[in-house]
Amino acid sequence: MDFEFSEEHKMFQAMVRDFCAREIEPHAAEWDESEVFPYDLIKKMAGAGLCGVHFPEKYGGSGDEITFTIAAEEICRACAGIGVAYLVSLGLAMYPVVMHGSEEQKQHYIPRVIDGTIVAFALTEAMAGSDVAALETKYTRDGDHYILNGQKMFISNAAEADFVTTFATKDKSLGYRGISAFVVEKGTKGFSVGKLERKMGLHPASVAELIFDDCRVPAGNMLGEEGKGFRIALEGIDASRVSIAAQALGIARAAYDAAVAYAKERRQFGAELARLQAIQWMIADMATDIDAARLLTYRAAWQTMKDKHAPPKEAAMAKVFASEAAHRVCHKAVQIFGGYGYTRDFAVERYYRDQRITEIYEGTSEMQRWTIARQVLGVK
Ligand SMILES: Cc1cc2nc3c(=O)[nH]c(=O)nc-3n(C[C@H](O)[C@H](O)[C@H](O)COP(=O)(O)OP(=O)(O)OC[C@H]3O[C@@H](n4cnc5c(N)ncnc54)[C@H](O)[C@@H]3O)c2cc1C
Repeated sequence: MDFEFSEEHKMFQAMVRDFCAREIEPHAAEWDESEVFPYDLIKKMAGAGLCGVHFPEKYGGSGDEITFTIAAEEICRACAGIGVAYLVSLGLAMYPVVMHGSEEQKQHYIPRVIDGTIVAFALTEAMAGSDVAALETKYTRDGDHYILNGQKMFISNAAEADFVTTFATKDKSLGYRGISAFVVEKGTKGFSVGKLERKMGLHPASVAELIFDDCRVPAGNMLGEEGKGFRIALEGIDASRVSIAAQALGIARAAYDAAVAYAKERRQFGAELARLQAIQWMIADMATDIDAARLLTYRAAWQTMKDKHAPPKEAAMAKVFASEAAHRVCHKAVQIFGGYGYTRDFAVERYYRDQRITEIYEGTSEMQRWTIARQVLGVK
């Protein structure tokens, strides 16, 4: 048993930390305030080799799932709003292509992401949130095209993405068996971005509706076999949950580092806060939560790499634990900062807001527990 990263992973971690300290962290508060997406940064990330990690070498990639998890953790520690754009582009939105795309589709789409193209994953609809099989976006065949009609909501990267992986049903009465997966390019007639959501956190990245109105996509844009879209979506989400666990871990570390530094510096009753047992216990619980979240997250990443697919139970355990641990850590960090922690002058306020979504998207905590319980109990 070995809890150490390999030398290559350590070197990658040092490189990405250095990149984040120079290019991301100093601007995170400004991007949070302006809510403007820094396109230049993604190009810099691609230039530094950060957008190829975990894609097969054959298509220009490098690294593995551990490398991707390290990148997700470090980028989200610096700015979770940039982190979500990054990990949806490389992970959630691209797993359907990497796992089920044809050779031609992989050759076409993977190098574009490695070069810094932003991608979205559009599954959720107004009546299909946790219950994804209830989706209503419809497709019909018309010669060598498919025609998509419907509306997606809460789509990360919706405004910035150059293409989107999405899901539609041939016939809702077929249930999950009617669902197929597609790639739709920005600029396709009948495809547009709808209302932008005003969110609590993750401000630099957009979340919006996507509208398909008689949107004609070439038949070659179907991903995987017809009728297998539900499985394709779930497999992608299972894998991607590990990167959301890494996102939560990154945010928790940022909050913890800030709280430890503040506790050593701030003086009340003639001594540093760090000398008060109440504060020490909070710090001890934060450190323990972070360690446990790290172990579960990297175990799930390691299993994904080893088995070539994400383990549903372990990915769900990592996601539910890391996101709820981040919740506890950010809550305590604001508490340690006292009134200052409630102001926008200190980053713990942003971490507190950014963390909250990790318990909701890519399956709520309740859905993760359902997944774990079904596997443990062997029930459907
Ligand atoms: C900022 C943001 C970014 C997002 N990005 C994307 C994206 O890129 N792509 C995408 O497709 N979607 C995205 N989503 C959608 C997100 O995945 C859904 O919001 C989430 O899956 C929950 O669905 P819902 O909001 O419809 O909640 P609902 O499904 O209506 O759930 C409401 C509550 O009921 C609980 N609940 C529901 N069913 C059960 C059950 N069977 N057992 C126990 N409890 C249950 C839930 O846990 C939750 O607490 C995003 C959402 C947000 C807010």
